[in-house]
Amino acid sequence: MRATRALIHLENLVHNLGIVTELSGPERSICLAVKADAYGHGAVAVARTALEAGVSRLAVATIEEARELRDAGITAPILLLSPIREEEADEAVAASTEPMVTDEHWIRLFAEAANRNGTVLPVHLKVDTGMGRIGCPPERAADLAVAVRNEPALLLAGTATHFPAADMEDTDFTEQQIDRFSRVVESIRGAGADPGLIHAGNSAAILRYHDALFDMVRPGIMAYGYYPSGDFPREYTLLPVMELETRVLFLKEVPAGTPISYGLTYRTSERTTIATLPVGYGDGYFRLLSNKAEVRIGERRYPVAGRICMDQTMIDLGPQSSVSIDDPVVLFGPGGPDAEDLSESVGTIPYEITCSVSKRVPRIYLGPE
Ligand SMILES: *Cc1c(COP(=O)(O)O)cnc(C)c1O
Repeated sequence: MRATRALIHLENLVHNLGIVTELSGPERSICLAVKADAYGHGAVAVARTALEAGVSRLAVATIEEARELRDAGITAPILLLSPIREEEADEAVAASTEPMVTDEHWIRLFAEAANRNGTVLPVHLKVDTGMGRIGCPPERAADLAVAVRNEPALLLAGTATHFPAADMEDTDFTEQQIDRFSRVVESIRGAGADPGLIHAGNSAAILRYHDALFDMVRPGIMAYGYYPSGDFPREYTLLPVMELETRVLFLKEVPAGTPISYGLTYRTSERTTIATLPVGYGDGYFRLLSNKAEVRIGERRYPVAGRICMDQTMIDLGPQSSVSIDDPVVLFGPGGPDAEDLSESVGTIPYEITCSVSKRVPRIYLGPE
């Protein structure tokens, strides 16, 4: 098998979900976000392990993602978080997803699709309390909830909102959203409709806003072992689930002043050993990490030397290296450096680092399944 692979430590996923449960309380249900192939970790294996560990629902972005889970025999409820095209409405029903509704038009479309398929479709009313992405205005929520209730082919399974700033130190914005959302829920009940499961909390809210967890939480990133942003006190030990690993496949000793890789951006400062790794931006190891990232071999860290290529990357082992061909090299993972370290050096977030590990990299599942 190829030297470059993503080890998926499912025992760490179970550990992190334990923290979710501890923070949200055993009485709340957990809907795990497994969109984008479970943030790059592999949706089916992650979903199976998570359901085994007590998660009761899954959330995806596309119908294809839902389909993959259904084809693997997963029967748990699947929330469809993102908007779809009108022509996909029947597929949403056929894959037994629970889509978000945001206006009368979609309530009608989903009701028609459910009728055509001879079923009752559970939907969630999405309310925009400040995210500015999808959702109805808070003052429309009660009418829409009633409209759903009046459709025999639909069931209002839940009422939801989303927090864009729950990871930020300033809590005003999120507190206002929580307030607005609580009033939305009251208005729905006031109109005589049942809001179903009330849910809002992403990882940031689970970590920071314990009064905003309502009936169900929707963690993503914390289950995969990362804090949503650098702004958090590290009170809980989240364990990275993905370990991107490769091996040393070529070694050479070179004199001082030797240029390394495209653009000659790195020159050795002394006589040294350069190792070549069979990994590159074609695997999702960002070219922006050139001359910035470090890798780990055993206990020691080594710098990436020169530009990362599509399929290969060089590292500088220094003058006195005992590294050999086939030695394992960690690009990121639980023992560090981790995806957060990489994300910081290129100005992104850990989400994008794990999501970007490409299809070319086999996922190897370790731990409980
Ligand atoms: C992705 C997503 C989540 C999970 O967010 P994390 O920050 O990864 O915890 C929750 N809710 C919605 C609507 C999402 O799109």
